[in-house]
Amino acid sequence: AEVYLNGKWLKPDEAFISVFDRAFMFGDGIYEVTLFYKGKGFRLKEHLKRLQYSLDQIQIAFDAFSLENLMLEAIDRADLNNADAAVYIQVSRGAGPRSHFIPEKIKTTILLYAFPVALEGFENKTWEVMATEDKRWHRCDIKSTALLANVMANEEAIAAGFHENLLVRKGYFTEGSHSSLFFVKYGVVHTHPEGPEILSGITRAEVIKICTDLNIKVIEKAVHIDELVEVEEVFVTGTTTQIIPISSITHKDKTVYTTRKDSLTKKLQQVFIKRTRA
Ligand code: PMP
Repeated sequence: AEVYLNGKWLKPDEAFISVFDRAFMFGDGIYEVTLFYKGKGFRLKEHLKRLQYSLDQIQIAFDAFSLENLMLEAIDRADLNNADAAVYIQVSRGAGPRSHFIPEKIKTTILLYAFPVALEGFENKTWEVMATEDKRWHRCDIKSTALLANVMANEEAIAAGFHENLLVRKGYFTEGSHSSLFFVKYGVVHTHPEGPEILSGITRAEVIKICTDLNIKVIEKAVHIDELVEVEEVFVTGTTTQIIPISSITHKDKTVYTTRKDSLTKKLQQVFIKRTRA
C-alpha cells in the first residue's frame, strides 16, 4: 500500500516529514477517518465538511474538499475496492522553528492513506466499559491530532480489562475515548448535545437520523451518572466501531450499570447495516 504525502504517492517506509513539523511537536493538526464499504465512501461529504470545520477553527487555510479524489485514489491504489476499508487524512499546520508563535509563511503537511478494517460481525459484540473523569480540553468538537487525553483514557480501560472508557464531565457523560455515546431511558434515546464537549460524530448523526425515520424519540441532552438506574440500554457508535451495545459500566471499581434490554440497539444496528451496505 502507498501513502500520499504532500503531492506524492510513496511507500510508507519512504515517506518522511520534518522533525519540526508542528503536528509532531505540538499536535498542531487535524485528522479524519472515513469508511469505504466495498469502495463506496460513506457520508464522504459530511466527513469533509467536519474536516473543513476543524481546519477553520484552528485557522489552517486548506480546502478539505480538494482531497475527495485522492481518497478514492488511495482506495484504488491499496486495492480495497472490494473490501471494507477506511481512509485516514491528516492535515498538519506544517514545519517551522519550534515556537508557540506560528510562522506567517508555513506550508501544510498533507498525509492520506487507505487501510482495511474488520467491520464484519460488529453486531455480535458487546463491550464492558469503565467510566472516568473527562480530562480533555474544552474544544472536543475539533478533530485534533492532539489525542493524549483520549489515548490515556483508552489505555486505562484496556489495562483494566475493559473495551472503552466513557468520559464524565461534572457528573454528566460526554462520550467515549474514541466513540459517541447513547443511552435509552424509558424508550427515549438520549445523547450529549453537539458543542465543545464532544466530537460531532458522523455515525452519531446517522443514528439520530435512523431514530427520526423510525419515529423513535431522541433527546440531545447529557445523561448524569446518577440517572443510570433509569437507563435500559447503552450503546456507543463510531466510524470503525459502528454500533456496539454496552453490557456493563464500572465506575470507581463499582458496577453502576448492567444491561436491562438490547432490543432498541439491535433494531438500530439492523437498519444501520441496511443503509451502510445499500
Ligand atoms: N468521539 C470521539 C472522541 C471519537 O474519537 C470518535 C471516533 N472517531 C467518535 C466520537 C465517533 O465519530 P465518528 O462516528 O465520526 O467516527
